[in-house]
Amino acid sequence: MSLDDRRLPPLSDRSQAPAREKGRKKEKGTAHFWRACRFLAPYRGMVAVSIICAIFVSITNTAGLSTMLPIMRVLVKGDTIGAWANREVAQRRLGLKFSDETKDLVVVKLNADGPAAKAGLHEQDVVFAGPDNSHAAVTGLLRQLSSPHRTSQILHIRDGAAVTLPLPPLTPALTVGRRIAGAFSTHPVWAIGEAFGVIATLAVLANIAKFFQEYLCDKAAVLTVNDVRRRLYDRVLHIPLSHFNLSGTSDVTSRLTQDAQGLAEGFKTVLGQTIQEPIKAAMAFGLAIFISWKLTLFIVLFAPLLIAIIKKFGKKMRRASKKALISSASMLGQIEGSLIGIRVVKGANAERFERRRYRRIMDKLVGEQLRMSRIDSFSEPTVETLTLFVVGIVILFASYMVLIAHSLEVTSFFLVMACLASIGDSLRRVSKVNNVLQKANAAAIRIFEVMDLPIEKKGWHAGSSGHRSLSPGAIEAAGSNGGSTAPENHRPRIKLPPLTREVRFENVTFAYPGANSPAVIDVSLSVPKKKCVAVVGRNGSGKTTLLALLPRFYDPQAGRILIDGVDIRDCTLRSLRDQVSLVTQDSVIFPGTVAENIAYGHPLAWTSLESNAGKTLRGQIEDAAKKAFAHDFIMEKPSGYDTLLGGLGAQLSGGQKQRICIARAILRKTPILVLDEATSQVDAESEALIQKAIDSLMHERTTFVIAHRFSTILSADEIIVMDRGRIVGQGRHEELLRTCETYQQLYERQLIAAPAA
Ligand code: ADP
Repeated sequence: MSLDDRRLPPLSDRSQAPAREKGRKKEKGTAHFWRACRFLAPYRGMVAVSIICAIFVSITNTAGLSTMLPIMRVLVKGDTIGAWANREVAQRRLGLKFSDETKDLVVVKLNADGPAAKAGLHEQDVVFAGPDNSHAAVTGLLRQLSSPHRTSQILHIRDGAAVTLPLPPLTPALTVGRRIAGAFSTHPVWAIGEAFGVIATLAVLANIAKFFQEYLCDKAAVLTVNDVRRRLYDRVLHIPLSHFNLSGTSDVTSRLTQDAQGLAEGFKTVLGQTIQEPIKAAMAFGLAIFISWKLTLFIVLFAPLLIAIIKKFGKKMRRASKKALISSASMLGQIEGSLIGIRVVKGANAERFERRRYRRIMDKLVGEQLRMSRIDSFSEPTVETLTLFVVGIVILFASYMVLIAHSLEVTSFFLVMACLASIGDSLRRVSKVNNVLQKANAAAIRIFEVMDLPIEKKGWHAGSSGHRSLSPGAIEAAGSNGGSTAPENHRPRIKLPPLTREVRFENVTFAYPGANSPAVIDVSLSVPKKKCVAVVGRNGSGKTTLLALLPRFYDPQAGRILIDGVDIRDCTLRSLRDQVSLVTQDSVIFPGTVAENIAYGHPLAWTSLESNAGKTLRGQIEDAAKKAFAHDFIMEKPSGYDTLLGGLGAQLSGGQKQRICIARAILRKTPILVLDEATSQVDAESEALIQKAIDSLMHERTTFVIAHRFSTILSADEIIVMDRGRIVGQGRHEELLRTCETYQQLYERQLIAAPAA
């Protein structure tokens, strides 16, 4: 076990642990999700365009909203749009407000430092627009007062007084606005039609921008999660084997699939709504402030209440979503386990047991999912009810402003409300965003738990620069210097040259993480090149563990393993594993063709079959299959070497699978072979063929074989007898029968199978 391994609790524990370990502070917030956002960096161009589109959508939405004002004016007051604009411009220019309720121009409000006040007008003054003060005369006067070409105007007040009013120049915005409004028809129906035309055009433009915005942010999210999955998978392939012992494979599978999907939803939401809604809300807010800052600020006072409630839901959602993810990982584990072992399930009549177990896990999962759904469904109506409550209070305040203080026009009030409805809509969506972000954060936590795991180092560790190949003398020196007490990270890494002399175990002791007693205790063993060692012992005596130390699936806590005098912890993992082939008992078959399975791990495995190298490789594959006695049954398959093998090689017998694995080991031509003889699922004919294949292999390579068959044991150069982690006997068959009690028992109880017929 490496130093790193010892530090790590199992993954499934870790997913529940951060709160306890890192304190409650870390639990809160969406820090992990934001950390995951750095994977968006390669797609920042796409994100930028999407943000620009979001801004454009918001601008057009706000512009659409502001066209509501003239339309309402036309509908409510029977004004023309041009006349409404003239009145607005004149009021702003003079710094006063005329009453909305009377036909005459009654001053209801006056800015103390505006031109009208300075010229001597007072509140409640009536401005007289002509002898009959007709509608046409009032409209004409307002047109003159708003004209950019006029610099002064004489105003008659009804009691006979006249004041000369200097007109300050119009701001460019007012000039342009007045001109646009003046372009609308004076017929009310046409004017409304034209205004709707403007709104419709804006809506079309907004929707085009919305399409790009949504598509681009979805695209960036999908591509980013693809990158995350790729990196995560890469990481998973390189984390130490001990992790899978502790947490199983289904947990990692669910992180790769479900959690990555959760993260994708988070990215989509952040890039979509989280960017768009605040911009939209900010624009609507700006418009509302422009129309009436008092009313708007009054409403803003209620915002903290809404935010507090949204946060509360976020917290609940986060907890529920984490629990649901953990339950669903354990459901995947159950499915995976029972389907891989479906034969055992059926054979043991355990369907009912499996069904109950599955139901229990599903009940838990359903419970968590419903809880999430309840929180999610509850949050929206609550926020909406609250919004309604706020709107009620606002209407009261606005009525005061319109009817008593005369500081707000009815039409402006409606527009402010329209802005606020738009802000409320954004807030409602943002309240959902928070829930999605909490889910995505829970997913990001689980993804980073795997990404942050220390990996096996294949080559030089950080800070070093490339491989180093040493002369035999230098290797000797490195071997004797590199004591097992040296810290892992400070060891120099060397490229292990091909085996020339021997493999040696020196006082090796190893215990699995969390185990009470070591699985291998003080084992010393020396195997010269091209010799074969058969390891025998009862189940659980430590045979598999001992041989798993050789390719460094685990590192011993004490002692060391030397190849030609070099401690294998001083070598790069890649160069070490290039020297070792493994044939495991469970004969692993990958999805792909027979030829691809044999070539698995070969440096040329990816070469096109049409190329020269590919053709040579094909020849080598067939040679290897012949040596492994696999050629004949492969040729009987419909497409020979190109027959596709499904997951786990279901269409092959146990013996055939093992022969394909032996062919794989033969093709790799590594100097060291570790072989675990299959004891089950092998028919007599296969067994005899496997035996022949192993026999020929055993004397070409330095071989370690976990032997179950008498013939293998007889043809080995040396037999090692293991018991409870220790070597209790070493020698040839006859010698051990005489001297080693454990070996005698193994032989008598026929734990070493008789030779195949
Ligand atoms: P053998 O190959 O002789 O049957 P193993 O090497 O598989 O024996 O097991 C040796 C001991 O280590 C046994 O007690 C076994 O329970 C324990 N063991 C094996 N694999 C693991 C593991 N992945 N985690 C913890 N303990 C293990």
